[in-house]
Amino acid sequence: MTLAFVVLVGVLGALVGSFGNVVVHRLPRGESIVFPRSHCPACQHQLGPLELVPIVSFVALRGRCRACGAAISWRYPLLEAAMAALFVALTLHWSPVVDGASLVPLLVVLAMLVIAAVIDLDRFILPDVLTLPALALALVGSLLYQPGSGLPTPAEALAGAGVGAGVLLLINRLGALVLRRFADTRERLWPVSLDQANLAALGGALGGWQIGLAVGAASVVLNLLTRRTLRLPEGPLYGLWAVALVLTTTSFTVPIDVALGGSVLAAGGWALAGAVFWWIHDAVRGAPDAAEEEDDDEPVAMGFGDVKLAAVLGALLGWQAFLVALLLSVTVGAVAGIVARLAGGDRVVPFGPALVVGGVLALFLGHPILTWYLGLLGAG
Ligand SMILES: [Zn+2]
Repeated sequence: MTLAFVVLVGVLGALVGSFGNVVVHRLPRGESIVFPRSHCPACQHQLGPLELVPIVSFVALRGRCRACGAAISWRYPLLEAAMAALFVALTLHWSPVVDGASLVPLLVVLAMLVIAAVIDLDRFILPDVLTLPALALALVGSLLYQPGSGLPTPAEALAGAGVGAGVLLLINRLGALVLRRFADTRERLWPVSLDQANLAALGGALGGWQIGLAVGAASVVLNLLTRRTLRLPEGPLYGLWAVALVLTTTSFTVPIDVALGGSVLAAGGWALAGAVFWWIHDAVRGAPDAAEEEDDDEPVAMGFGDVKLAAVLGALLGWQAFLVALLLSVTVGAVAGIVARLAGGDRVVPFGPALVVGGVLALFLGHPILTWYLGLLGAG
């Protein structure tokens, strides 16, 4: 690989980062991300071509608007530089093992995740319009990787997406149970919702992922046939889930990895099916009143956006490296939480950015860490 190519990738990354700044600013406001051209938020001065050059323009203008002198946030050049560094690092790391074309989905997916993470940092939302297409692209991308490249095959990507979503979903629901916030949800329930994911978790614990997915499907069919929402309340359902896991694994009818893994995978599968259903539903029929959706509660650190984000990471990494990513994310999140606390204020730190950081680290270090860990198990 030539130096010129690496520089080109870096410039491309900086440009993507620059576009990312526009998306971060406009997407949550529902504005067009294409028109009008970028302008200074203080004086509306429209930026000329030279002022749009990433990083360089910020340095040349000494971080101030050319027209009114208002300070430009350091976050703009930071995102541009970070994206450039990420693009170069990914290309250097992965281009020896995958061909050039297969790198494109990887770079695009990562760019979408980083942009989503910055939006989450700002507003505690991970927009579906970023996470769900990123998931689709990550799955399509897996068709391009050669076996043995270290990136997942299509089957591994699908399983990774299910496990990623399932782990975050179970943490979310069990966490809610422990924190006594098991509010039986006000979410839309018919014909597909959290219910199917919960039932799939139970089914998976009883007989593996196939049973879990089938139980979820049966529940949707029953809902459709009866035109009602037939459901088990979450508290008792997760009680049964725990009992099922213990019984199937102690009676050795189903090995623990099949029962637990199947439970996670099936729950994640139905959580994603519900997410895609409602995303398309809202795109076609129009989203419900935003005011109704908006909770007056304080922001939660881990929400359903994280379930979809984790699915993308699972699809990129495969389930084993996803678990490494999750451990790294929890560590990063904990450190960020402590730093935020020390910096004063009790601002809740969203988990999305930590997940993305953990995912990026695992893309580079996942396999070495797994090999080292399995080596420890083998030696012991
Ligand atoms: Zn200005």
